Parts: sequence; C-alpha cells; structure tokens
Amino acid sequence: MNIALIAHDKKKDDIVRFALAYKSILNEHSMFATGTTGSRIMKETGLKIHRFQSGPLGGDQEIGALIANNKIDVVFFFRDPLTVQSHEPDVSALVRLCDVYAVPLATNMGTAEIIIKGLERGDLSWRKIASEEKGDMNEQ
Ligand code: PGA
Repeated sequence: MNIALIAHDKKKDDIVRFALAYKSILNEHSMFATGTTGSRIMKETGLKIHRFQSGPLGGDQEIGALIANNKIDVVFFFRDPLTVQSHEPDVSALVRLCDVYAVPLATNMGTAEIIIKGLERGDLSWRKIASEEKGDMNEQ
C-alpha cells in the first residue's frame, strides 16, 4: 500500500510519535510525505519516505495529484485546527480528493489509530482490488 503522511507544524511531534509507535506496520508499505513532515519522521524514526515539496510550497498538491491517479491508499494528515494555514486551499483540496476517490483519511490521532490497526489487519485490502480494477500503477 502507498501511505501519505502530512502534519501541520504544531502536529509534527504527534505524527513522529505515531510513526514511531507503528513503525513496524508502516515499514511494510511505501511512504510519501510533504517535505518537513517527511524529514522529521525519517530523522526520528529511521523510516524511509519519499518526500515532496513542503506543504505551503506545493507538497499537498503533489500528494493530491497521486490521489487523483489512484496511487495513494491511505492518508494520515494531522491537521492543526487552531492555526490559520497560508495554504488552506491546498489542504481543503487534498481532503476533497480523498472524498472523491474514497481514500481513507485520518485527520487526527484518534482516527489514525483506528486506520493503522485496520491496515495491519488487512481491512484496507479492498484498496488493492479497487486500484487493480482501474488498471492503475499501485506496485505494493
Ligand atoms: P510540511 O507540510 O510537512 O512541509 O510542513 C505540511 C503542511 O503544512 O501541509
């Protein structure tokens, strides 16, 4: 499965803790992240992640493009609901695309815990079937 990891600045400590706690599960998948989130997770967990631009510089849109091409199977996007984001339109667009393509999306730790446990249990294997049916390029 292809997993996207994104966190707003005040949620970066949380996503690092999440990635550390579930490192063994995440390690079995391909990971993609916005720039700063990806660097922090790689540095602090040792996980290998493909990094895009930083979110405010277009990283959310790059991940959105993958979603639109059916290349992302689950998104962990730890949003900060209490801080205005300069790139709010990109954030909304990414969330919208998850809904367009029925991609499981966790925007907070509570939901992330449920989704990662579902991922471990194989609850998201329908994503593989869905993407194969669409003849897409999901390798994992
Ligand atoms: P960042 O981007 O990981 O580069 O900080 C995340 C975001 O704010 O969308």
